[in-house]
Amino acid sequence: MKIVYADNNATTAVAPEVVEAMGPFFTEKFYNPSSMYEPAQKVQEALVRARETVARHFGLADAGAIVFTGCASESNNAAILGSAKANPRRRHVITTTVEHPAVLEVCKDLERNGCEVTWLEVDGDGRLDVGQFVRALRPDTLLVSIMHANNETGIIFPIEQLARVTKETDPAIVFHCDATQSVGKMRIDLAQEYRHVDLLSFSGHKLHAPKGIGVLFIRPGTPCRPLLIGGHQEAGRRAGTENMPYIVGLARALELAESHFADEETRVRGLRDRLEQTLVATIPHVQVNGRAAPRLPNTLNISCHFIEGEGMLYQLSDVGICASSGSACTSGSLEPSHVLRAMKVPFTAVHGSVRFSLSRYNTDADIDHITTVFPQVVANLRRMSPYWDQQRDAPRADAEELIRANPRS
Ligand code: PLP
Repeated sequence: MKIVYADNNATTAVAPEVVEAMGPFFTEKFYNPSSMYEPAQKVQEALVRARETVARHFGLADAGAIVFTGCASESNNAAILGSAKANPRRRHVITTTVEHPAVLEVCKDLERNGCEVTWLEVDGDGRLDVGQFVRALRPDTLLVSIMHANNETGIIFPIEQLARVTKETDPAIVFHCDATQSVGKMRIDLAQEYRHVDLLSFSGHKLHAPKGIGVLFIRPGTPCRPLLIGGHQEAGRRAGTENMPYIVGLARALELAESHFADEETRVRGLRDRLEQTLVATIPHVQVNGRAAPRLPNTLNISCHFIEGEGMLYQLSDVGICASSGSACTSGSLEPSHVLRAMKVPFTAVHGSVRFSLSRYNTDADIDHITTVFPQVVANLRRMSPYWDQQRDAPRADAEELIRANPRS
C-alpha cells in the first residue's frame, strides 16, 4: 500500500542529501572535534563550517550565537530555566496557553518554584491580543516565551512585533521564541526583523534533518546560564561531545530549506489550499481552525462536527494516510487538544479534529488520495455516531447540548 505522509509537523523524512552529508562523519571522520591531532582538527573545521551555515541561514554574522543541542525540548528548557537561573531577582514570566508542552511544562515548573506566570489566551481565530500582551509586561518580568508557529494549527504569532514592544518597554526582559515549526518553512532574519529576539529554539527533525539535533540561538550578551554543565563544548554553554554527523546534517538541511522557500510558499501552500477547499466543499459541518489568522503554508487543522475523532485516524491509517489528531491520548483517556480548547472550538467538533501537515515531498496525487478518501471516512464515522442522526434536524445549539449531556470522554 502506498503511504501518504501528511504528518510533517510531527517529524519529517530525512532528505537524501542530508544522509549523504552525514555519512563520512560516521566512518572516516569519526574523530572528536576537541582532539589535537590533525584528522580531528578537520572535524573541528567541519563543526565551524556547520555553525557558520546555520548562522548565515538566520542572517547572522556571528556564528558564536549558535549552540547545538539535542532537540527543541532541550533548547526550550535551556532557554527558560537558564534565563531564570541567570536573573533570580526577577520572578515574572509571560507565555501563552497554546505553547507546546516543551514550553508549557517548563513554565509550570517555574511556577512550582516560586515564579509567577502570566498565561496569555488566544481568541477564536487563535490570535494573540498585542494590547493584552503589552499590559502583561511588568517591572519584574524576567522572560517572555512565545512560540512562532503553532504545531497543531500552524497559526503564526507576530513575534517580530512582540519582541520589539518588549524591548521598547524594558530592554532587560529576555525574549525567547520556540520557532520549531517555522524554521525551514519561513525566512527568519535574526539581524533584521527578528533582531529583538534574544533566544530562539528549533529542532532538526522538523526540516528533513534527523531526530536528536536541535539549536538554541543565544544573542550575545543575553543572560542565560547553561543547563548542561561539564565539558567546555559550545563555548561552555552546553556540555557534551558534539554530535558531529547530526550537526553536519542539520546545516545541510537548512541549506536545502533555503533553496525550497519559494516551493514551500507557492507549491506546498497550493497543495494545502486545494486540500482545504476540497474538504470544506465536500464534507458538511466542518470548520478550519485558524483559517482567519496567518498560518504556515503546510498546515491544515480541520474539525468535523459530530464524530469521535479516534476512529478517524485509524481509518485513515487503514488506507495509507498518516495524519494526526487534534487530540492527544494521555494516560488512557482521550483529552481534547489544549490548543483547540483555548480557541474555544465547539465541543461537538473538538474531538473530530485532524491535522494534515505537508512537506516538499508531497504531491498532487497525495492530495487527490486524501480528498477522495477522507470524506468517505467522515461519512462512515457519522453513520456510526450517536450524535449525527439526532443533530440533522436539530439546530446546532440543541445538538451541542445533546453531546454535552452524553459525554464519552
Ligand atoms: N516545540 C514545538 C512547537 C514543537 O512542535 C515540538 C515538537 O513537536 C517541540 C517543541 C519539541 O521538539 P523536539 O521533539 O525536537 O524536542
